[in-house]
Amino acid sequence: MAPSTTRTLSHLGAFFMDTKTNLYDTIVFDCDSTLVTIEGADELAKKNGVYKKVTELTQRAMNGQLDFNTAFKERWDLIKPTIRDLEWLGEQYINNITLGAKEMVAECMERGIEVFIISGGIKQPCDILGEYLGLPKENVLALNLLFNENGNYIGIQPGQTLLEDNGKARIINKLFNKERTLFVGDGCTDLSVEAFVETFVGFGGNVCRKEVESNAKFYVHSNDLLTILKFI
Ligand SMILES: [Mg+2]
Repeated sequence: MAPSTTRTLSHLGAFFMDTKTNLYDTIVFDCDSTLVTIEGADELAKKNGVYKKVTELTQRAMNGQLDFNTAFKERWDLIKPTIRDLEWLGEQYINNITLGAKEMVAECMERGIEVFIISGGIKQPCDILGEYLGLPKENVLALNLLFNENGNYIGIQPGQTLLEDNGKARIINKLFNKERTLFVGDGCTDLSVEAFVETFVGFGGNVCRKEVESNAKFYVHSNDLLTILKFI
């Protein structure tokens, strides 16, 4: 290779380094057991004295005695979280944030990568966590519940994409460019987005779910979310 060509390529390399070209435009995180170490629904169920009933319900769904959507609705009907409960959960999220989560989100934003939270949990506590992480509310997608004027639970707002089968995957497919998106999550609903993103990373730092660990192309066991930096 002629010396002049070498100089040109090296010059181009420096140029690309300077402009901080990223592999991804978008990084999406699950919330429960990913950005935070806890499961929001479990915490609320314990707070409201229905944890045992909720566990039994989940077990019936896992045994195939109850379909997923019915179990999901019945769970929230048992927990009946008030608006105050959801604010409380938001504080619990911040108090139980996963190691490295805040730093990881800050680093992504520093690099010009847009960060989203997509959660099968409830919107209000996810918003509180999102605000703590410096994310705008529109980058936090989660379920909306309905409340009366006293802030008491009425039900789940119908018609939400997240309630549909593969809801997370449908949202990802609609909103983001597949080739430029990375998703990080711990659960099976997270794994279902793998076909709709360039890279899915299973996160086993808080809970290691065997189905995700066995089937995800990439999986991390570290409890530090900054480990995800090596993928970007
Ligand atoms: Mg999760």
